[in-house]
Amino acid sequence: KKTMRLDKMLGNLGYGTRSGIKLLVKQGAIAVNGQRAKDPGMQIDPAADEVYLDGARIAYRDTVYVLLNKPAGYVSATEDRRDLVVLDLLDEEMNVFAPFPVGRLDKDTEGLLLLTNDGKLSHDLLSPRKHVPKTYRALVEGHVGESEALLFHNGVTLDDGYRTLPAELLVLAVGEGGRVPDHPEALGAVERMGKVAALRGPELEEAIVAGRPLSWIELTIREGKYHQVKRMFEAAGKRVLYLRRVAMGPLSLDESLEAGQWRELTEDEVTALR
Ligand code: URA
Repeated sequence: KKTMRLDKMLGNLGYGTRSGIKLLVKQGAIAVNGQRAKDPGMQIDPAADEVYLDGARIAYRDTVYVLLNKPAGYVSATEDRRDLVVLDLLDEEMNVFAPFPVGRLDKDTEGLLLLTNDGKLSHDLLSPRKHVPKTYRALVEGHVGESEALLFHNGVTLDDGYRTLPAELLVLAVGEGGRVPDHPEALGAVERMGKVAALRGPELEEAIVAGRPLSWIELTIREGKYHQVKRMFEAAGKRVLYLRRVAMGPLSLDESLEAGQWRELTEDEVTALR
């Protein structure tokens, strides 16, 4: 049986600071198992004891699931000596649950990142045996077409000799002669590349000036090797200039979430992940 202080339980759930909760107790606003609580430090078992605030039952939860639209410039870690980390984008009330990122996106990669304190779920999603699909959209320097689709479908050998599992490539739009591919998301990505220092604006500029083709693509992979998407294109002689993850298993990136914004998963989404 796991017990914790009443004020810690309420604090974790976002009901205020320790002193704020002390005040609520003093005012008689909190009851435990039908008895008015007198001591904010009383030990309770959040799974078994019934806690009420102003007569309404408070359900404790010990797991949290956060869908973040990761912006470039943040590292997928819980702490880092030099860089901002994705947890810096959450708020104090969420961070008391100590969520951590499920897998990693590169510092310059944007898009869907799941954070949770549910170790089992995280482990299952990352397990190499489960082959959870991850879908990325990318701006690639060069003309991407059928030959890359075939190459990735058959498996491509990366620089370390690893042969990738079959992956699906869709070419969404190609801009010839340094033109931005005619796709609303490609335009959005290019706009961000001009504004966000952690993105590869200078390289894009160079490609445009040189009149090189640019492709906006979607790639679905079922594994997660280090820098996998970038290295797959490198193996095909092409360079990824911008990368964003748009889906992972049953989850997809919420179009309403701006870069840097997050929300908790719905119950349906959590169920679908299990
Ligand atoms: N592949 C990459 O190259 N980078 C990422 O961040 C994710 C997948």
